[in-house]
Amino acid sequence: MPKPFIATPNKTKDILKKHQFAFKKSLGQNFLVDVNVLGRIIEHAGIDLHSGVIEIGPGIGSLTEQLAIHSDQVIAYEIDQRLLPILEDTLQAYENTKVIHADILQADVHAAIRDNFTENQPIHVVANLPYYITTPILMKLLQDKLPVSSLTVMIQKEVADRMAAQPNSKSYGSLSVAVQYYTEAEVAMHVPKQAFIPPPNVTSSVLKLTMREKPPVSVRDEEQFFSVVRACFVHRRKTLLNNLANYSKALSKQQLTILLNRIGISQTRRGESLSIAEFAELANALYET
Ligand code: SAM
Repeated sequence: MPKPFIATPNKTKDILKKHQFAFKKSLGQNFLVDVNVLGRIIEHAGIDLHSGVIEIGPGIGSLTEQLAIHSDQVIAYEIDQRLLPILEDTLQAYENTKVIHADILQADVHAAIRDNFTENQPIHVVANLPYYITTPILMKLLQDKLPVSSLTVMIQKEVADRMAAQPNSKSYGSLSVAVQYYTEAEVAMHVPKQAFIPPPNVTSSVLKLTMREKPPVSVRDEEQFFSVVRACFVHRRKTLLNNLANYSKALSKQQLTILLNRIGISQTRRGESLSIAEFAELANALYET
């Protein structure tokens, strides 16, 4: 096993110099250089030697190397072609890793899981995500309904707070409902800027998403449910009734008031106070009209 690990400032600087690698800010390239932080991410992810792991954006392989050591097998998706020869070099000792050159937003992850992991193997997504597309990546992975147990990702603190937020908090919004429809969300830890080269401009947190076996509520139509949720947050300061009146052209304010009364939700409440169960009840009632 090559020592020192990639995730140390000196080794990372050596690799960058050897390959004359120049960071692309547009691809969110901030590489981790703290093995302790990586160890804690892997612990939070619940990885063990039976786990299959999907990584997004291996960079020069700092997290990939630790995942390779602590799991059964790793598939890593990297969009930047310049990193492929570097990864071939840095990960050559780890035969249980496979790098796929692809944009994760375009990739067929279901097929990769079928081709690379054994049936019934617990699969986890672990990544230090490129911050410019955190939400699209996570929503794609969740909406694709991948057979994974959890997603443990380093993202911008503010986004992690929004995804894990509970009703009646400043961060609670349609993103919290969407993420928590599929998962149980928990902010696992915060990571200082010094853990990266180059240091990012924002504060970072590790978010652990544990997949639910089934959604916590039953909705008539998922797409309609999410569009009702989004509508209730369009103007955060407006009441539920006013936001719904803008959304539902078919129903008058009076009809909406009757509908809200029937399901026991006050028309003067704001979207930010509704639980997922209440959003589901509201969306199902609207669906039936
Ligand atoms: N995992 C490495 C680490 O922790 O040091 C690098 C993380 S860096 C924050 C994000 C990585 O994602 C970069 O290597 C970047 O090139 C890659 N990336 C950016 N957009 C991507 C996409 N759409 N699909 C796959 N990889 C992407």
